Amino acid sequence: MIIDGKAIAAQVKASLQGSDAKLAVIMVGDDPASSVYVRNKERACAEVGIRSCSRRLPATASTKEVIASIAELSAWADGILVQLPLPEHIDGKKVLGAIPPEKDVDCFHPYNIGKLLTGEAGLRPCTPAGILHLLGDVRGKHCVIIGRSNIVGKPLALMLLHANATVTVCHSKTKDLASYTRQADVLISAVGKPRFITADMVKPGAVVIDVGINRDENGKLCGDVAFEEVAAKASAITPAPGGVGPMTVAMLLKNTVEAASYQKR
Ligand code: NAP
Repeated sequence: MIIDGKAIAAQVKASLQGSDAKLAVIMVGDDPASSVYVRNKERACAEVGIRSCSRRLPATASTKEVIASIAELSAWADGILVQLPLPEHIDGKKVLGAIPPEKDVDCFHPYNIGKLLTGEAGLRPCTPAGILHLLGDVRGKHCVIIGRSNIVGKPLALMLLHANATVTVCHSKTKDLASYTRQADVLISAVGKPRFITADMVKPGAVVIDVGINRDENGKLCGDVAFEEVAAKASAITPAPGGVGPMTVAMLLKNTVEAASYQKR
């Protein structure tokens, strides 16, 4: 089975129609990939009726200037996100820490990460939330994650634990990676390398979630998984593109609507 992230994301978006929430997006510099992501987010907001406002700052902007923009847009927006990556001279921790936690729709603020760790209700990071939505019930399943970033691997591990999965997290220093991946009922790859997961690394009947967004040797978008050969062995698999990516955007919209409703209480 191919897990159609686009169709499932469309259902999530349909459930959000009619919200009067407002999202502000701040982008620093003109990284082409970030520009595409920001445009996608604006378009998705428009689809469900969320009002969005994007502020583009020059690559030379200072940490203080980015923080000043956050403060200014906070007066208007229910949700605020700063598109990553930021230019190297900017203090990313300070910037993300300056987003009011109740408006932190990407869930990168330490306060929200603390709530995630302890399992308290609140906003959840978009990509892991999208993956959980695709997976449904994971109770008792052995979920093996490859990747331990703050954006994907680590928060996903916590969310799967809260959902009563058994979780293994692998990374670049893991020895004999395939010995772990072959044990996975659910294998999630968040590495960022084309054709990184091959059929010999997958248990027959496993569910495979491909988080990677890469370019292949012909410049075509692809995930981490050698799709054809792994699909033949897996019971379910996400395509990339068209799997986790659309879910990430849908969860951003959901977080924005939730953030707006928390703030009205
Ligand atoms: P990242 O910060 O670069 O993390 C990559 C992880 O992969 C690291 O933990 C790294 O280990 C691990 N790794 C690298 N080489 C490995 C190897 N040979 N064996 C085992 N593990 C290895 O990336 P990220 O931000 O998590 O993103 C991962 C991928 O997902 C990228 O392609 C990104 O574009 C994509 N992504 C997609 C979405 C979406 O919505 N679909 C959202 C976010 C990210 P170390 O920690 O040891 O270095």
